[in-house]
Amino acid sequence: MMWNLLKDAWFLFGRLFPFPTQPGLRRVGSPDRSSPVLVTCNFELTVRKVVRTLERDGMDAWLLVAPTKGINVWCSSGGGHFTDDTVVSIIKTSGIEKLVDHRRLILPQLCATGVNIWSVRERTGWKPRFGPADIEDMAAYLQSGKPRTDREQRRVKFGLKNRFVMGTNHGFSAALFLILPFLIASIWVGGLWWKTLPLLFALSVLCSILAFWLPGKPGVQKGLSLGVLASAAFVVVSQAVWGLAPSAVLGWTGWIVFLSVLVGYDMPGWSPIWRQDMKELVLGVKNTHVEIIPDRCTGCHLCDIVCPMNVFGRDAETGKYKVLNLDACEACGACIENCPADAIANNFRGGTCSCPACGAINVVAKLRGKA
Ligand code: SF4
Ligand code: SF4
Repeated sequence: MMWNLLKDAWFLFGRLFPFPTQPGLRRVGSPDRSSPVLVTCNFELTVRKVVRTLERDGMDAWLLVAPTKGINVWCSSGGGHFTDDTVVSIIKTSGIEKLVDHRRLILPQLCATGVNIWSVRERTGWKPRFGPADIEDMAAYLQSGKPRTDREQRRVKFGLKNRFVMGTNHGFSAALFLILPFLIASIWVGGLWWKTLPLLFALSVLCSILAFWLPGKPGVQKGLSLGVLASAAFVVVSQAVWGLAPSAVLGWTGWIVFLSVLVGYDMPGWSPIWRQDMKELVLGVKNTHVEIIPDRCTGCHLCDIVCPMNVFGRDAETGKYKVLNLDACEACGACIENCPADAIANNFRGGTCSCPACGAINVVAKLRGKA
């Protein structure tokens, strides 16, 4: 009981860190030999949400909890912990093959970055397909009886509530990583840590909530926009309420802008391979560029099914697929991983960056389970 309360408290702020639960087979409701077989990661919070949502919607299903090092679906597949091998291993070791008469497997759409369904099919004889991006849509998808999700079920929406949760967790993890350096710095600048860390947390929450409205491209530009807005608000309040001296106002506004840029720089960690180089993060110039090679495309539709941003569309004349909205691409690589005709290329313009700033950010990303 106490342990569960502690876990719930941790998940309010610490969900960016891995938290494993036992991999294996779970029964949801009263599944029989024809019930659907679903796969998910072994991040405890995800497993709880999947089970709770399916039970709430009255679904009977078999749930394979794959060993993904306790990391959520999106980050573990991007980080190389949720792969073909992971899916093959959970099929072989869970005993599911003795419990059902069919061989249909529903994977979470957001694992497509790491799982190639053709390889799983060849190695196991099962017929995997990708379900909806959000477990909330699973009941509607299963009840529709269609083999494919529809366009809305595929798109990651990232609504206000999700952005608030993401912001609080980003703020908490940033504060956790920076507490020691700021405590040390407080020896010279008294009280720096308790003045700075709550500010960093608040800016993370604001940056996440306002992400779609702040001017500029995701990354440093959005952080800078937030810094300008937040410091303008600070100037007004500090003069009207506290009557701070001009030198103190100047110091604080510079500090707010600096922290906002730091927060904005960390935000594109939402996509596992987005953070390619400073050019992309500072100038918003896309380093990656997904392209379909028309001669190879067979029009199988899979790139459209796995894309969480609805980047692709079908050409009505040729029946092949083409890139319609490159700006929306998150560079997740799911389309490239799963195209059976090897028809999608990703033109890297500048390679990956090895500067100290990107290196430090990537160390933190690795600790959170991302590659
Ligand atoms: S997955 Fe590949 S072959 Fe299939 S429609 Fe997309 S580009 Fe064409
Ligand atoms: S087009 Fe971009 S966002 Fe869509 S699947 Fe491909 S890499 Fe991911």
